[in-house]
Amino acid sequence: MNLKPLLSENQANKPLVIAGPCSVETPEQLDRTVAGLVEAGIKIIRGGVWKPRTRPGSFEGVGDIALSWIVDVKNRHDVKFAVEVASARHVEQALGHGIDVLWIGARSTVNPFTVQEIADSLKGVDIPVLVKNPVNADIGLWIGALERINKAGIERLAAIHRGFSNFNEKLYRNSPMWQIPIELKTRFPELPIINDPSHISGQRHLVLGIAQMALDLNFDGLIIESHVDPDAAWSDAAQQLTPGDLSTLLRSLHLRSGFS
Ligand code: PEP
Ligand code: MN
Repeated sequence: MNLKPLLSENQANKPLVIAGPCSVETPEQLDRTVAGLVEAGIKIIRGGVWKPRTRPGSFEGVGDIALSWIVDVKNRHDVKFAVEVASARHVEQALGHGIDVLWIGARSTVNPFTVQEIADSLKGVDIPVLVKNPVNADIGLWIGALERINKAGIERLAAIHRGFSNFNEKLYRNSPMWQIPIELKTRFPELPIINDPSHISGQRHLVLGIAQMALDLNFDGLIIESHVDPDAAWSDAAQQLTPGDLSTLLRSLHLRSGFS
């Protein structure tokens, strides 16, 4: 793969921390969450606009309207913003609203048609793209998706380890299967890997342990879900942390692993 640093020099803290709500819900929820995260030192916010939910009837994201709220929030706070894209139309909308970072979700990475459509829509565009592992434990699909995006000319590329779905696992929502991201790192040493302890753990009290494990394994960053009022979140309520709790978590990682 042809790779360039994911972010410019002055943003390239290791570990990189991206945080924000599972979903953008309302202008107020977004603004209050981002304000809290800025206070916690976060510079890149995540937020789902179009949500690929497993079953129908769940909240599927507020859609395009959220992009204008993101534009507003970026005018008020000095942050970059990452959203999930799952189609060429999403890419077009996101780029048209100045979104800074794109990610491909676990339910899209499994589908080469979807990944190729996204890749084709990114030709000639220079934007960081993060590719989540596929929902199933298939490193080939993960690598294939990364290669499709890279072949489209995206060189600011990273992988997100969000764990793998399973039938029997009790403790974690998605099994970490650490050997898979470790194998990816062995094959592509230059490719940054960001851990998503929120979607692995599924429960907020388990996020710290997973994040610590990732740093101990020398992952390049973390993407963590944070919401101003987690229990009232419209998606993934059990795993989100308040910005205050996220700040405490990051300081505790600092004590244990020299995080800065
Ligand atoms: C998300 O990041 O909110 C999400 C839907 O994650 P995943 O694609 O990992 O399930
Ligand atoms: Mn989520």
